[in-house]
Amino acid sequence: MKAKTKTKAIKTERQISSGGVVFRRSNKGIEVALIEVESSKGKVWSLPKGLKEEGENLAKTAHREVREETGLDGRIIGKLNDIHYFYSQKNNEGTKRFFKIVYFFLMEYSGGDVVNHDKEVVDCKWFPIDEAIEIIAYKDEREILEKAREVIEGRG
Ligand code: ATP
Repeated sequence: MKAKTKTKAIKTERQISSGGVVFRRSNKGIEVALIEVESSKGKVWSLPKGLKEEGENLAKTAHREVREETGLDGRIIGKLNDIHYFYSQKNNEGTKRFFKIVYFFLMEYSGGDVVNHDKEVVDCKWFPIDEAIEIIAYKDEREILEKAREVIEGRG
């Protein structure tokens, strides 16, 4: 009888994050704030977000993470969509696999300045929303921005 080969199962950890599309209206039209972060692909532009903490609701996490990462405050207008992805991380004990769900909220800028962005973030800038849709790195976050544009334009 053929011996069964034992394969070591890689446990997948589930993570929940929450983030925001912060927008304002200027003479350039609708602008949104993006953060530039280091990733496995190099520096990429993305939406501010972060892990939900114990006892926090998703809106609170979005608010806190947006403020920490961008230096901006925003009033939550409503929920956008959520995205899901898998990623792996190597450490001393081996490779860990994660399944992540990220919820996004639409937030209207109410104060603060991008110069106060998190030091762990490479940069934070306002972009006209059409430009943001072009430069954002991940397809699922691009779809979040497209949905945000639809909602903002619908508000007039
Ligand atoms: P958080 O901002 O929630 O605290 P983090 O900065 O620790 O998270 P992620 O932004 O989830 O981590 O990045 C972890 C890995 O997932 C990186 O390799 C990154 O390139 C990849 N990643 C990030 N966002 C996406 C996405 N929308 N789609 C696919 N892969 C992504």
